[in-house]
Order: sequence, then structure tokens, then C-alpha cells
Amino acid sequence: MKRTNTFIVEGAPALWELADKCARLYNEVNYERRQAYIRYKRFEWYPKHLYEKYAPLVGSATAQQIINKNNEAWRSFLALKRLEARGKLPPHITRVSMPRYWKKNGKRELRIIVRNDCYRVDGKHLYLPNGLRVRYKGSLKWHGKQGRLEIIYDDVDEVWRGFMVVEVEEPPIKGGNKPLYIDLGVVNLATVWFEGLKQPIAFSGRAVLADWWYWTKRIAKEQSRLARVNKAKTSRRLRKLYRIRQRRFNHAVNAMIKTIVEDAVALGISKIVVGNLKGIRDNNHNSKANAMINNFWSFNYIIQRIREKAEEHGIEVAEVSEHKTSSICPRCGSGKVIKRGRLFKCVDCGVEANRDSVGVLNIGLARGAKLPAGAVNGAMARPLLLRWDGMGWEPKRAMSNKPMRTLEARISRLQPWRVSIRLPSLALVQCYNPPKAPRSLGDGLTL
Ligand SMILES: [Zn+2]
Repeated sequence: MKRTNTFIVEGAPALWELADKCARLYNEVNYERRQAYIRYKRFEWYPKHLYEKYAPLVGSATAQQIINKNNEAWRSFLALKRLEARGKLPPHITRVSMPRYWKKNGKRELRIIVRNDCYRVDGKHLYLPNGLRVRYKGSLKWHGKQGRLEIIYDDVDEVWRGFMVVEVEEPPIKGGNKPLYIDLGVVNLATVWFEGLKQPIAFSGRAVLADWWYWTKRIAKEQSRLARVNKAKTSRRLRKLYRIRQRRFNHAVNAMIKTIVEDAVALGISKIVVGNLKGIRDNNHNSKANAMINNFWSFNYIIQRIREKAEEHGIEVAEVSEHKTSSICPRCGSGKVIKRGRLFKCVDCGVEANRDSVGVLNIGLARGAKLPAGAVNGAMARPLLLRWDGMGWEPKRAMSNKPMRTLEARISRLQPWRVSIRLPSLALVQCYNPPKAPRSLGDGLTL
């Protein structure tokens, strides 16, 4: 499996020069191709004249890497164009445009691409072609066969960042056959259940949503200030705000996924089944939630992170259709149900439950999970709620002895990516109740 080591690279004058030449090469290749494309002409996948012009400046391997990078961009552009011509474009793509230049805010984007066999790292330094040696900060998380290295200048934080691809050996797939089911959403980011869990566990999205909204308001304020004062559309400050908003969201999501997957490992779970999100856009969330789903909420990001994290522990991930999972009664299978807000009620058997609980139980039941008779009431019908407090996911308690950490008031200046993640100690494990023989019918049918 491929993973990326990221680290901060100390800026050196030679780095700036090299990156600028790389960007010029990329942009020249791209310019010729854009011109050719507009004029319906063919272009060469190997532009010899540009290679010969730049190889002495950036090194032949790097010149080749940059041309390859542009080739990748054009190949995917042309593939999308072919799909578009046949009317088969994926629904989330509305417009296909030609590969853009390495240019941002009127300046060249500075990046260097180094082939896997042209650099070396040790504990402190990065050794690049032409005897260039630079220090780096950060530790290398992944070890294995090294792949391509990219060094990119980050103009928001004003640092150079290294991205080093590593091919890591996959851990063997775990034995066992106990799957864990995940239902994704917005009000609850994820609701988790597996056979033997006393009640589903939900990761409340409320605090994450509120935080996202808080930063969105600050972004809007900064935008109007810019328009008024400088007649500008963007600034470094604005880009920084966007980044903070995204990082805080990612931080909460990654902590959640870490909790789920590490608990799953502790419980000997071999497979994670995630309901995929067809139709997530057209259900009755409130307007804020809807705005988020349509604009920024990245379910693909969440699913991708679940896949990566699970893969690292040898756990398989399957996506299944979530179609109908929230409109069938998990107890009697009836389709005559009433849904109001978060509440779900079955007209036939009268069961009342939380919608996300119903969703995740149905995902499990559709795949053969067993529920003790009459289990779908009481605890099973309501998830145990975990809340994001800006640092970790904690169960909601009736009385908290900890000081309140009101999101907007207290932690807005915290930079969570520098704070070590504190996790609830195995929330899933605490809730785990080893399976017992199904109780007799009649028990619990009192609803
Ligand atoms: Zn029912």
C-alpha cells in the first residue's frame, strides 16, 4: 500500500532556484499542449526540445518527472473528455477544463519532483541531486520502498513541504468473521454497530458542525473586509482561515476514525462495512447541514480515511448501498414507517428508535447480523452519543466534572493539529457485551 511521509524542508536558495525552473518547464510544456489542443493539433507526449532545454538546468531525471507529471494531467483530462463526449461523466464533475498552469495569484507555484532513485534521506538531511543537501523537520512515519518525492512551497504557512511516497508492506488480512457496520451522516458523523454491541455508538457531528460554521462566519467577515478595504478577493489571511477550517474538520474526523479502527482491532473485527451515501443530499437535514453537504462536506474524504486506516491494520472495508436502510423497520421489516427529525417509528409494530440507529442496524441485518429477539427497543434504539470536545471523542455524561469547553468561546485559538490526540478509552470495547443466547420471544415486546 502507498503512504506519504510529510515533513517540513528547510528553505535553501538552491531550492528556490530549482523549483522556479521546474515550474517554468511545467508551464512551458503545458502551454504548448494547450495551444495544440485549442487548434485541434496533436502533441508529443515527449517534447524533446523542452527536455533538452531544461535537462541541464534541473537534471535529466527531474525534467523527465515534470514532463510525466504534465502527461498525467493531460491523460486524465483527455479521458474525462472522452467520457463527456459519451455523456458518461461522473455526476460530481460538472465541467472538464484543461490542465492548469503551476501558477497561483499571479506567481509561479514552486515545486520540485524528484525521482525515487535520485534522493536519499537520513535522520536529519535530505540529499537531492546536484549535491544539494537540506535539513528537514519531522519524523518519517512510514518505512518501505521509497517512491517519488515532491517538495512544494506552501505560501500560506511560508514553508517548504516534502511529500515522500513510500510503498509499505501490507499487514496480513485478519482472520475472524465479525464485521463492524458504519452509517455515515451529518448530524451524527458516524453511527457504529456490530453484533454483540449493547447499543450503537454515534459520533455526534454537532460540535464539528458548529466549529465549521464558526470559521465559515470568520471567512465571510474577512471576505467582506477585503472587498471593502483592499478591493481584493483573496489574501494570505483568508487562505489561512480556509485552511484552519479544513484542518479542524479533518482533525475531528481522523480522531473518530482512529477510535473506530483501533477499537475494532482490539475487538478482533475483520471487516468494516460502510453504507455508501447515495441520496445523502436529498434528505431532510436542516438548511445549515444541507449547505455543508452540498458545498464542503467531504464524505469521500471520510471513506478514504477509513479505508486507509483499516488497511494499515489488515481490516477489509466494503461499501454497500445505503438505499432504504433508513426506511425499513429493523424489528419487523415493515416499510410503513414515520420519520420525523431524528425519530423513526414503525406503524406496524410500534417500535420507536433513533434514525441513525435504525440505519446502522439495517446495514448489519441486511448482511446477516443477528439481533437478540426484542432487542430493538430501549438501549438498542438509541445510540450512545460521543461528543467532540475539540481534542477527543467523549461519551456524554449526565454530570460532567470537567470544566466546559464551549467550542467557539474556548478553543478557537487552539491549534489542534499540534495537540496530541486524547481518545476515549475504547468506547466500543466498554459497550461490548459478548453475545448471549437469544432471549425468548415475548421478552421486550412491550413497546
Ligand atoms: Zn416494525
